[in-house]
Parts: sequence; structure tokens; C-alpha cells
Amino acid sequence: MGNRGMEELIPLVNKLQDAFSSIGQSCHLDLPQIAVVGGQSAGKSSVLENFVGRDFLPRGSGIVTRRPLILQLIFSKTEYAEFLHCKSKKFTDFDEVRQEIEAETDRVTGTNKGISPVPINLRVYSPHVLNLTLIDLPGITKVPVGDQPPDIEYQIKEMIQQFISRESSLILAVTPANMDLANSDALKLAKEVDPQGLRTIGVITKLDLMDEGTDARDVLENKLLPLRRGYIGVVNRSQKDIEGKKDIRAALAAERKFFLSHPAYRHMADRMGTPHLQKTLNQQLTNHIRESLPALRSKLQSQLLSLEKEVEEYKNFRPDDPTRKTKALLQMVQQFGVDFEKRIEGSGDQVDTLELSGGARINRIFHERFPFELVKMEFDEKDLRREISYAIKNIHGVRTGLFTPDLAFEAIVKKQVVKLKEPCLKCVDLVIQELISTVRQCTSKVTGFLSSYPRLREETERIVTTYIREREGRTKDQILLLIDIEQSYINTNHEDFIGFANAQQRSTQLNKKRAIPNQVIRRGWLTINNISLMKGGSKEYWFVLTAESLSWYKDEEEKEKKYMLPLDNLKIRDVEKGFMSNKHVYAIFNTEQRNVYKDLRQIELACDSQEDVDSWKASFLRAGVYPEKDQVRSYPACNLTLRNSSHRYTCPHAK
Ligand code: GDP
Ligand code: MG
Repeated sequence: MGNRGMEELIPLVNKLQDAFSSIGQSCHLDLPQIAVVGGQSAGKSSVLENFVGRDFLPRGSGIVTRRPLILQLIFSKTEYAEFLHCKSKKFTDFDEVRQEIEAETDRVTGTNKGISPVPINLRVYSPHVLNLTLIDLPGITKVPVGDQPPDIEYQIKEMIQQFISRESSLILAVTPANMDLANSDALKLAKEVDPQGLRTIGVITKLDLMDEGTDARDVLENKLLPLRRGYIGVVNRSQKDIEGKKDIRAALAAERKFFLSHPAYRHMADRMGTPHLQKTLNQQLTNHIRESLPALRSKLQSQLLSLEKEVEEYKNFRPDDPTRKTKALLQMVQQFGVDFEKRIEGSGDQVDTLELSGGARINRIFHERFPFELVKMEFDEKDLRREISYAIKNIHGVRTGLFTPDLAFEAIVKKQVVKLKEPCLKCVDLVIQELISTVRQCTSKVTGFLSSYPRLREETERIVTTYIREREGRTKDQILLLIDIEQSYINTNHEDFIGFANAQQRSTQLNKKRAIPNQVIRRGWLTINNISLMKGGSKEYWFVLTAESLSWYKDEEEKEKKYMLPLDNLKIRDVEKGFMSNKHVYAIFNTEQRNVYKDLRQIELACDSQEDVDSWKASFLRAGVYPEKDQVRSYPACNLTLRNSSHRYTCPHAK
């Protein structure tokens, strides 16, 4: 091999193998290994025994190998074996090894000859082996044998596939020479998972059993069914040799003699036989591990990171220790508190880039949604004018008035002030909704402790939600009180009271855009609903709303801009929900009768819910795009409304 350190690679992977076996399913890594596949009696066990130079594998008719055997061969001065499932015991008698494999197989599969994919881990230390990790798999069966359940053929195939489909596995496909290569079960199965034959190594057994005058030269020269890693021929002991207890050492000598003396194989005798196979596998596995190392390393690293994160969360966390129970409970509740605060108050770490946090959503309710609800309050100008005139007349009574009495003004304004109740209460409802869903998010956080204690979680949610509900009541009372206060006395001397003369001017000022021009007010998907079928029909775009314009793009990347519509002279109107559609639609149009987009007088934008529509309309309002029915600005009685929509909720009496 030349490369120093390379011979350490296989033992290194062996260590990883043990580590992963001992921690079970929670961690998994596909380690580079060699999976041995072949039909029943192809000679798989014989090949493995020849490597070790010992008889240690179960033999017999039917399906003998019923669990995968992960066999780690380790070069060592002394010879012994050990199992991962009874690590303390050193086996020096290989008959005992065989008995233990049989017993351990039955322990998991039961004695009724079932199969199981749970591997047995065996390690053999020996001066005769080269470092290697091989998996002996059940033989591919063709017909159900004896008392096997009929679906066993399928089960075995699936188990083998599970092992060989991993890119990390090399496949040792064992085929007996006395059968047609094209019918080889091993090669057929290998081809399914490795169609180009990149990680398959061919082994041809039973070369001694071929009919007189035939040979496997073409196959072994990699000419018949070429594999990138080629074929190696071997001669194992025959059944008669085994019964006659032929020594493996003698068998290896006989094998060597066979290749050297056979006219078809003589020229490539140094590339045939068990010792060469063993050496080749050792080299190929080592190289394969070296190639897999970078990927292995990064997978390990990412598993390590996620484990470390988990460990961090369990630090000081021993819920089963009675002295720590209270502490653990407190920690969880405290963590919940911290999480909740982060979501509402905002924080620097772990900023969610996928959706708005509770706090940001509440901000939107205050600064977009609430002003929108205020503007949405319907003012019917005619009604209002009539009411005013009646109020004035009623106040004058039988007299004919000279001046517009303050009383009339007050009566009208008070009526308007009462209308604030509904949007204010709705604002509270929206904020409460947001708080409660934030509580849920905090308790159900996947990595949080609370998720593992459903009853504690339920109780925490209940207590916090009850508290929020209680505060909701108080908040609403307070708001109603404030409105009552506003209503009971109109302080026309207050600096915030703008008076009739300034009203007109002020309201136009207020209408001017407040947001910074390029500041993005909102982004999101919307469907343009009214593009005719001829032009492609309705389509979803990614919309970006700023205080100056509405742009739409192909997608969130915002690279491919479709159009930019300046917001000047735009307004919003509602659109009847289509009969067949489950979308909710609003439209944007130009107040000066111009087309807004191509030949369209208005673009209709569709959302999935009315809630979305309202929320978008609120964002538009913030950008200065008002709902159509907007007589509001020209009417003095409504100045109060506008004052509120500029986010100054000051009560003149409170100062
Ligand atoms: P497995 O089912 O694939 O594990 O096959 P085994 O290794 O148990 O071998 C099945 C039978 O074939 C045994 O009786 C072996 O002695 C015999 N056998 C295996 N390889 C050879 C070989 O190369 N030459 C001869 N003559 N017999 C072999
Ligand atoms: Mg076998």
C-alpha cells in the first residue's frame, strides 16, 4: 500500500461500527463495508472461512444464515474471536463461535427459521487475516425450502437490497462456476443497485466443478460481463473435503496448485485464489474508505453538532432525580418565559426568516391594521350631512339660529367617537389572538422540554392563556372607559384640537405619505386574478409594497421583476367573491381612469382568506392607498379619525 496510516483505516471504521452499534438507532451512519451476496450454496461461507483459516460458520441445508453477520477480521499475533453482544468472552475454540452464532441467531429470529435484519457482530483476531470488514448475508433463495414461510424469498431479497443499496457498500457477488453467469442471482441483484458495476467485485467459486473441457477464462479475464473491479476465481473445499475435515491450510495449497496447473488459468494464477482475493479486498476496502472519508466526516460532524445542541438543552436536566424535579420544572417554565419574551420583544439570536414573529405581527396590527379599521368605518356623507342639519335645527328649536351652535358639533362628534369602539375592540382581539398563538408556539417548540411533558404543557398553556384572557377583559374595559371620556367632554382648547379652520389643510397633509419612500411595507404572494385566459390566465406573483410603488416578481428571489406600479392616485375597492372561487379578492385602480397595468383598468388581487385581504388593505393604507369609499378626508367631523390613524392615541383629558 505504501501510504502510511492507510492500514489504520479499516480498524478505525471498525471502532465507529462498534460505537454506532452500542448507541442503537438514534445515530446512524453508513460505514464502508463489503457485503457478501450470492445464491444459496454459492460458496459465500466457504470464502469467509478460507480467509480466517477456520471452520466457524454454521452449515447445513436450507437457509443457514438468517441474520446478517458483520465479520471484522483483524490482523493480530494471537488468534481469538469475540462477539459484540458478549464482549467479555474471548473465544479461542471456533466450534464455540459457530454455536454462539447459531444461538444468537435463534435469540432474535426464534427457532422457527425466520430471518431478521438485525446483524450479529463478530470480530476475529488472527495472524492469518488481513484487516477486512465483511457482511455475510442470507443466500438468495429461489423456492421456499422445507418449512420456510413462502414470502421468505422476498424478505431475503429485501434485506440484501437494504445492505447493498448503500453507496458506502462494496458488493462481493459470489457466483459458482458451474452455473451460467448470466443467471447469477448475485450479479442480477448487484446490477439493480449498481447498474454500472462500479462497486461490485465478482467472485467465481467451484471452478474445480466445471464440466470437462469448459472453463471460466473469459469471465475471469473480465470479458464476458465486465465489472470495473473485475473477477477473482477461487477453489474452496468441497462437501467431501469438509466431511473429511480437510485442513484449510491444505485446501489453500491445493487451490494454488489448481490455478498453477490449469491450462486456462495458469497465465493469471497470481491474480486468482483466496489469498489474492483477501489482499484485493483489503486494498479496495481501504481505498473505498479513504474515498468516503470526506463525506463521512461531514456527516459525523453534522450529527455531532445536532447532538451537542441536544446535550446543551439537557444540561442540568435530571427530571428523575427527586431533588432536582422542582428545579427542572422551574427551568422549563423559565425557558418558556424567555422564549415568549423573545418572540414578543424581539431578540438577536435565532431570527426567523420564514415568517413574522408574534411581536412583529402585533406591531403590524398597531401600525397597519388598526388605522385601516378606522378608515374602513363607513361614513355615509349624505347621512352625516342630514344628521348635522337635523341636529342644528333641533337645537335651535323654534328660534332661527344665527351661528352654528357648538352643541350641534358636539352631538355629531360624540356620535362619531362612539364608532371608534368597534375597531378598538377588534384591535384588542387581534392582539390577543397573536399572543395566544405565540404561547402555543413556545410550548410546542420541538426541541423544548415542554413538548416531552404534555400535561405540564397543557397546564402551562391553560394558566398563561387564562391570564391573557383576564387582561383582555381589563384592556377592553379601559378602552371603553377612554372612549367614554372622549365622548363626555370635547376639549376644544386642547393643543391637539385643530379646529374647523385648520381641518381642511391638516387632512390633506395627513394624507401625504408617512412612510419612508423605499421602505418595504409588505412582501407576499398574491394572485393577479383578472388576466384573461388568452394572456395566460390568473397567476401568482411575489409582491413587494413600498410607500412609493407596488412591484411584482416571479418569485421570492426578487430577481425577475414583472412590473412596477407607482402608487400615485391609486385606490382600493372590494371585488365580489367569484361564484366558483374560494379566493378573496380586492382590486387596485386609478382614480383618474387610467389603466393600471397593460390594458387593465384595475388589477384584481386574490388571497386565500378575508383576513389576508384586510391585512393587505391595511398595508396599502399605510402606503397611502385608501379604500375607495373615502369621503373621510373632506369632512371636518372626521378629523378625530384621522388623528388616530396617524398613531397618536392621546386623550386630551388625560394630559
Ligand atoms: P453458501 O450457502 O453460499 O454459504 O455456501 P457454502 O460456503 O456453505 O458452500 C455450499 C457447498 O458448496 C458446501 O458443501 C461447500 O463445500 C461447497 N463448495 C463451496 N465452494 C466450493 C468450491 O469452490 N469447490 C467445491 N468443490 N465445492 C465448493
Ligand atoms: Mg452460508
